Amino acid sequence: MRYKSLILSLTMATSGAALAVDHAAHWGYEGAAGPEHWGELDANFTLCTNGKNQSPVDLTHIVDSNLPPIDFHYAPGGSDEINNGHSIQINYEGGSGITVDGHAFELKQFHFHTPSENHIGGKEYPMEAHLVHADADGNLAVIAVMFEEGADNAALSAPWSVIPSHADESVHLAAKASAEGLLPENRDYYRFNGSLTTPPCTEGVVWLVMKEPVTASHEQISRFSEIMGHPNNRPIQNLNARVVID
Ligand SMILES: [Zn+2]
Repeated sequence: MRYKSLILSLTMATSGAALAVDHAAHWGYEGAAGPEHWGELDANFTLCTNGKNQSPVDLTHIVDSNLPPIDFHYAPGGSDEINNGHSIQINYEGGSGITVDGHAFELKQFHFHTPSENHIGGKEYPMEAHLVHADADGNLAVIAVMFEEGADNAALSAPWSVIPSHADESVHLAAKASAEGLLPENRDYYRFNGSLTTPPCTEGVVWLVMKEPVTASHEQISRFSEIMGHPNNRPIQNLNARVVID
């Protein structure tokens, strides 16, 4: 049950279609439905205002703790690309995932934000990918990858060539997209506890932020922001009692 309800809230958090069906409050990134009002829009969104472990954050005051390597086992499995009005999301077939400290999480979907949501040492990036995973109990772990403007990103070229331009449009990908291609060569990472960066802002999410950015071309980043029509980053949240470790 817990697994189902968390997956449902994850779906609701990332799918405009599910929100409409469930009659949950409309939310967005601008005006009266924007991030500073999320907590007032729906009784289920109060953590967006009252939470103490919210995402995104500026990763500062980093504590060195010799984090063990993340074990990645990603096969090409991105099957459907969805414009949910809040992001472009690629849903992933089962069988791919990560193991963190002996704990297994399955990759469910990845999506993008422009500009980046998290900052590293005060630095904002032009784009950030979130690779969303869940364990058998529904606990979430998100791998965050920062993009710098530079060389073309090969992993984006197929999904970007058929990017759904309107909210609630989706396409089935003829060749399955690869999450592996989004990862930097060096997999060193920062870790902190946070939340979904979209309503209902559920906490208890393990955030794993890759230290090394990858690149995407100016055209690739612009294409995504043009399709969105507005920035889709939640503002930085207070760290409060948390530490970021590496
Ligand atoms: Zn995200």
